[in-house]
Amino acid sequence: MTAGDRPRMGFFTDTSVCIGCKACEVACKEWNAVPEDGLNFTAMSFDNSGGLGADTWRHVAFIEQRASVGVQESGVGRPDGASAPVDLGMPAFEKPGDSAGADERGEFRWLMSSDVCKHCTHAACLDVCPTGALFRTEFGTVVVQEDICNGCGYCVPACPYGVIDKREDDGRVWKCTLCYDRLGDGLEPACAKACPTDSIQFGELDELRARADDRVRHLHEAGIESARLYGRDPDDGVGGDGAFFLLLDEPEVYGLPPDPVVTTRDLPSMWRHAGAAAAVLLAGITATFLGRRR
Ligand code: SF4
Ligand code: SF4
Repeated sequence: MTAGDRPRMGFFTDTSVCIGCKACEVACKEWNAVPEDGLNFTAMSFDNSGGLGADTWRHVAFIEQRASVGVQESGVGRPDGASAPVDLGMPAFEKPGDSAGADERGEFRWLMSSDVCKHCTHAACLDVCPTGALFRTEFGTVVVQEDICNGCGYCVPACPYGVIDKREDDGRVWKCTLCYDRLGDGLEPACAKACPTDSIQFGELDELRARADDRVRHLHEAGIESARLYGRDPDDGVGGDGAFFLLLDEPEVYGLPPDPVVTTRDLPSMWRHAGAAAAVLLAGITATFLGRRR
């Protein structure tokens, strides 16, 4: 529960059902009036936005892997006796899958995952902000107020996930607000509303965690042993995430840190050590001064 006994709200992103349609990216941009981010073609993948940033508050990663999903076949491979490829009338010189060897075709999958600010339980961005521009809302989420941010940028290196980012042309920092304005009106965030597969689910965090546990159990029973939750554990280095994920591979594959730790964790002991060092220095100066007077 958050202050005022309101339940903490969050996101559960189940990447196992993401189809990479990017409706979430578009809905986020439209609702929050986020500027376009260049529409660049990276030539590395079908991912045009590349990663989270000041102008990309939801980012859909595309990871191409030579692996099958659990016991499923991708349908691209055609074992002996399977039906022949069908001409879909697409402009091409050959039918899909015609030129690849049969053993190559069956072992291929796309991992797609819609990333976002994690709305950490222990949020370092909040800890280091000197102006109070970043604050914890009544829903337990972390929001930056653009009219208070002075662009100092302390929060940028403090975030263990590399989420919060400065916008070059206005100097202030921006990130997902979990659609704070919509939540206030009893609406779900725009990305969750737009997602056609329910890959992005919004709700009370406790309920989402229970739903995620069920989903992982179901996937394991279906033979998809690689399914795991990321950011769900309240005992992890950031106290758990308000936006957590079901992944089908190691976090690093998706560009996520495997073991994130709140970067301000050691601040209290650092201040204690600095205070002790200052006291020793002061004692030394005082002793020197008194010695000279004798
Ligand atoms: S992910 Fe980064 S920006 Fe988001 S709440 Fe956590 S520390 Fe702050
Ligand atoms: S809207 Fe849903 S299915 Fe489409 S890319 Fe985003 S998370 Fe994936």
